[in-house]
Amino acid sequence: MNDAPLPYGRQWIDDDDIAAVVDCLRGDWLTQGPAVERFEQALCGYTGAPYAVAVASGTAALHLACMAAGVQPGDTGVTSAITFVASANGIAYCGGRPEFADVDPRTGLIDLDSLRDAVRRHRPRVIVPVDMAGQVAALPEIQRIAREVGAHVIEDAAHSLGAVYRHEDMMIRAGGCAHSDFAILSFHPVKNITTAEGGAILTRDPAAATRLRELRTHGIHRDPARLTRPTEGPWYYEQSELGYHYRLSDLQCALGLSQMQKLERFVMRRNDLAARYDRLLAPYADRVQPLAKAPGTYRHAYHLYVVQLQRRPNESLEDLAHRRKQVFIAMRECKIYCQIHYIPVPMQPYYRDRRCATDCGSCGAKQYYAGCLSLPLFPRMNDEDVDRVVAALAELA
Ligand SMILES: *Cc1c(COP(=O)(O)O)cnc(C)c1O
Repeated sequence: MNDAPLPYGRQWIDDDDIAAVVDCLRGDWLTQGPAVERFEQALCGYTGAPYAVAVASGTAALHLACMAAGVQPGDTGVTSAITFVASANGIAYCGGRPEFADVDPRTGLIDLDSLRDAVRRHRPRVIVPVDMAGQVAALPEIQRIAREVGAHVIEDAAHSLGAVYRHEDMMIRAGGCAHSDFAILSFHPVKNITTAEGGAILTRDPAAATRLRELRTHGIHRDPARLTRPTEGPWYYEQSELGYHYRLSDLQCALGLSQMQKLERFVMRRNDLAARYDRLLAPYADRVQPLAKAPGTYRHAYHLYVVQLQRRPNESLEDLAHRRKQVFIAMRECKIYCQIHYIPVPMQPYYRDRRCATDCGSCGAKQYYAGCLSLPLFPRMNDEDVDRVVAALAELA
């Protein structure tokens, strides 16, 4: 039997990716050269968003998007209870207070009733919905909810590059900002394409794009119309606000450009593997079920393949969580390295101590967390790897 270690996710780097980076190394620019803008253009072309700003990470993208959305000390921002901590941290970096809306435990996506309730109570400056696992959150409805209180929407599309959702007979790409003010991407190696570390902010707002470009490089600009000492000299620049060093290097953008050419292929392969999981797991539906498809999903990006262990009759959530832990450990002993996405963020001591947990009382997030398990899924997996995971799970779960 094949027992090579199977991680839950991993990059796919080919010789042409390596050649693209080596070419860049032999050239004139290691950072802030022509590859940055070309990569940004490729992201625009693919998603349909008119402006893209490449930054050092998805987390940096969230931070700057929150700044551009105007989050300030005293403001609140609402995000999903089931996400990576960075979705909330972006709000907190700006001095804002994250509040958490609950999720639908069947999909892991933000629950609209809970969101409406949180928005009514907290009147947030931003809403940060998360495209959990690769399905787009209900953005058209979320945008309507946001507009009622003048909040901005930042789509956390770290999982969903390559996803397509349907709205009024239109097919719309994740990250395109058709129903959000900003979208953020991550290019961490487990994500759908990689630049090692990296991220981007997408927007339709040209003024916001200009400000984001300045914020990623210390808040510095050379715009003659805005310089307070325009005749100082050709070297002159000004820092007009407190920005950061959040740039993405030319080397990384060269890798990103090369990876973009494969994105469609990667996403199709992720969908094929997921379909195989769906089919092979169907006979065990009383014990394990994949996350439900959201009604608006036209194409899933399948960053993750998450299953839920099903609760047995009279089984408490605590017992389910314990059983899930046993399965997780037993799978590791077969060298199948599952992962848990995610620990509810309001459970994190940092947020718990700040009492940001108020909107997670019910709680779909706790239910979701107790039974969730992310199975290995990455484009380079073989069909036989899927068979091996399902065989192990059928025995252990
Ligand atoms: C990966 C991820 C991020 C952060 O991306 P980094 O590039 O690691 O900073 C943010 N949100 C979600 C949902 C993610 O999965």
